[in-house]
Amino acid sequence: MQQKQQNITGIAWHTLSADEALKRLESSPQGLTPNEAARRLVRFGPNDLGEEEGLDRLKLLLDQIKSPLIYILLAAAGVTAVLDHVKDALVILAVILVNTALGYWQELRAEKSIRALRGMVKARAWVLRDGKEQEIENAVLVPGDIVLLASGDRVPADLRLIRATELKIEEAALTGESVPADKATATLDAIDLPAGDRANLAFMSTVVVAGRGRGVVTATGRATLVGQIAEDVRTVSLVKTPLQDKFDRFAKRLGLAVLGMSLLVFALGLLGLAPGVTGMDLFMTAVAMAVAIIPEGLPVVVTITMAIGVSRMAKRNAVIRKLHAVETLGSTTVICTDKTGTLTRNEMTVRALYSLGRYFDVSGSGYELHGSITDRQSGEPARLPSGSDLEMALRIGLLCTESSIEWVDGMAAIKGDPTEAALIVAAMKANMDPERERALWPTRAVIPFESHRGFMATLHERNGHYYVFLKGGPEKLLDICALQRSQVECGHEEVLAAAEELAREGLRVLSLGWKELPHGMSFEELTEELAQGVIFAGLAAIIDPPREEAAEAVAGCARAGIRTAMITGDHVVTAKAIAAQIGIGGPEPKTLTGREIEVLDDAQLRERVADVSVFARVSPRHKLRIAQALMASGEVVAMTGDGVNDAPALKAAHIGVSMGRTGTEVAKEAADMVLADDNFASIFHAVEEGRIVFENIRKVTLYLLAGGAGILLAILSTLLLGFPLPLNPTQIIWLNFVTGALQDVALAFEEGEPGILDQPPRNPKAGILSGTLLRRILLIGAVEALGVLYVFNTAMAAGRSLQEARTLALTTLVCCEIFQVFNCRSLRRSVFRMNHLHNPLLFAAIGLAVLAQLMVLYVPQLEWLVRTVPLSGFDLLMCLAVASSVLVVSEVDKLAMRRFGRRPSRMP
Ligand code: ADP
Ligand code: MG
Repeated sequence: MQQKQQNITGIAWHTLSADEALKRLESSPQGLTPNEAARRLVRFGPNDLGEEEGLDRLKLLLDQIKSPLIYILLAAAGVTAVLDHVKDALVILAVILVNTALGYWQELRAEKSIRALRGMVKARAWVLRDGKEQEIENAVLVPGDIVLLASGDRVPADLRLIRATELKIEEAALTGESVPADKATATLDAIDLPAGDRANLAFMSTVVVAGRGRGVVTATGRATLVGQIAEDVRTVSLVKTPLQDKFDRFAKRLGLAVLGMSLLVFALGLLGLAPGVTGMDLFMTAVAMAVAIIPEGLPVVVTITMAIGVSRMAKRNAVIRKLHAVETLGSTTVICTDKTGTLTRNEMTVRALYSLGRYFDVSGSGYELHGSITDRQSGEPARLPSGSDLEMALRIGLLCTESSIEWVDGMAAIKGDPTEAALIVAAMKANMDPERERALWPTRAVIPFESHRGFMATLHERNGHYYVFLKGGPEKLLDICALQRSQVECGHEEVLAAAEELAREGLRVLSLGWKELPHGMSFEELTEELAQGVIFAGLAAIIDPPREEAAEAVAGCARAGIRTAMITGDHVVTAKAIAAQIGIGGPEPKTLTGREIEVLDDAQLRERVADVSVFARVSPRHKLRIAQALMASGEVVAMTGDGVNDAPALKAAHIGVSMGRTGTEVAKEAADMVLADDNFASIFHAVEEGRIVFENIRKVTLYLLAGGAGILLAILSTLLLGFPLPLNPTQIIWLNFVTGALQDVALAFEEGEPGILDQPPRNPKAGILSGTLLRRILLIGAVEALGVLYVFNTAMAAGRSLQEARTLALTTLVCCEIFQVFNCRSLRRSVFRMNHLHNPLLFAAIGLAVLAQLMVLYVPQLEWLVRTVPLSGFDLLMCLAVASSVLVVSEVDKLAMRRFGRRPSRMP
């Protein structure tokens, strides 16, 4: 098997002609047979660079330990051990160990699920096998395969080009040259050309920015040029989002604050405020407090919450490629969306034709062939005398195309562009036979449709004459269209009026024209030559029904304070009609066209974008400017796109959204999120999940910080009041462990609360710790502290032992935290109005905590460890009763918030 590989490596492919290259590779212009391809796959191995993003597990583990919080804890354990409190030191170490293990395990799972999603958007390529075009995963490409290239593709392997039309490839990744290279098929002589000058080769991982081409695969995987450059296997470290970073920093700062606080406690104690407490005890207490209050779980839970959000989004067809999108999504204020395929179904049907001043209706739906063409005026079936304008228009629609349809079991399977498929169907309804027409007017060359150009052209030969067929937007084509068939001046006004008339019904209007190519002129010179003498044949008006979910989602966005703007290459009248049908921009949407944008400077554009909902005849260049203008006026922008030229706009917007089905590789790579179903509604769902993620992070934060505040306030106040300490150091650490290990993670699984989409977007600058959250944290902390003091002091006053009193205090705090988990399920809603069965994990986490607590209470060996004593049933009930004050206070605060609080609103 090595032999074959050696046979084809080291060949200077650019010096071979296309035919020789095919021969060397034992392939043909029809491509390999599937069997041969399978054999070669075994022989050459998969086409990848072997850089499967490895997870650096050791680093992940070290990351858990490499935190100042853990350092503080380790130091504490060390000092504790030296001070002869070996048992306490062991408990601290155990906590560190368990925390590290849990953190590692959870983060590993989170990271894995995020990566698994990335794999959902697999790179694919179009190949020719056995003469049939098919889409396959890049990984199964083999030498000898014929690959089809179109703008927006990333070249999937090294190729010797065998066909190139206006093919431009950007090779910056390999050559550093940022100007795209023009590609051609001609054989080159010089062997020692640098890669950038080998114009008849295309290299793996470079980007097709324009044109079409095809090439035979000369090398795959590591044997490619990039494969040889990037020999070493890379492992990719974890990516943290800004929010995660913020949390990391927050936790660190909090750790330092806690350290200061602990020192304060220590100092207060030394000042003799707590009678009968030794300096050693104080030191240990300070250490334990630090352990308890430091929310070491917070950064990990944030990651987990995001991972959960990401997998929920994936279930709703929004695949996150860049994690930061998860947190930004929730604060989206404007969604700029494509029309075709995203808001509409992309199932095109020609509804009407216009030619020589007459309208014709086309019946039938979808791509079914049942249907006929009737004269709108007379109602008679349209006659198509050979050589008539209408016949020519239908022929251009049939032949000026890169698409085809096949009928499999009566179902239309479209290869290519639905717009073009619709035109093919229309011609067939007029009884034109595609095979026959193709044979009569064989296609010699194609200038493909590119959205920035706005039209496409094909070259046909007939009886020794050459003809160019053109189709595109009416204004574009009429610009270059001089005469009608009848040799009368083409009535531009009249045709444009007809186009507008059709567009008003929301139809997509295409103009069809042709010209005979003067003798001796090559197709390459055509683009300039087109400026004169194109003969206008007719208009075709195509319906593309709106998606039903789109209207709902647009309305949902409006309720959630999110504006939807349509950005389309289509005609302004068509766009406006569709927008009105879907409910974008109200009954009379404000519009702006590419031409108008052209003459606005950035400041003017910024003013205009504020209330425009339909951007029409827009090219990708304008998209970028629109995104920038919106962002400059403080909006959080999600922008969709699918073409190669959309990549800059997708990168620039806060959230670039690309289409999973129709999107090009380049657009997908530039995007933060990919829509598996190309559906606008999926963006809306992702926004909802994004908001849930943020809410859940706030809930977890509340839970963890309020618990810490409780302990802190309890200890500070006993010191200030001169009471004995209500908990010993080990108990504090134990408390931290039973209340903080799992419940916070369970909260990360909370589903969205009702009304989450009825609020305006969150101010992206607003932090997690809002005023409400801080107030709640302090309030609950104070109530917990009071409860502990009450239980502790009544027990002491009743003459019970210090150990008993402390056990009661500890148990009370554990109970408080159980109530708190339920409280934290919502920041606004009453606990009694929630269905708690929705989150079974919560019960599992609490069950484990209760079990653990009961064990230290009643299992003698553990009692010794935490220095607790068994409690009576009555004691337990009392602890529960006191702890329920947390529930009461939280409910009252929520009630007050619902009654008097303002709805959270977005700050300017
Ligand atoms: P959208 O933004 O709705 O996806 P496109 O950029 O696909 O719009 O198309 C914009 C315009 O370009 C259409 O209104 C039509 O005039 C023209 N057009 C689209 N597809 C083709 C095609 N395959 N051939 C020629 N013209 C096309
Ligand atoms: Mg399009």
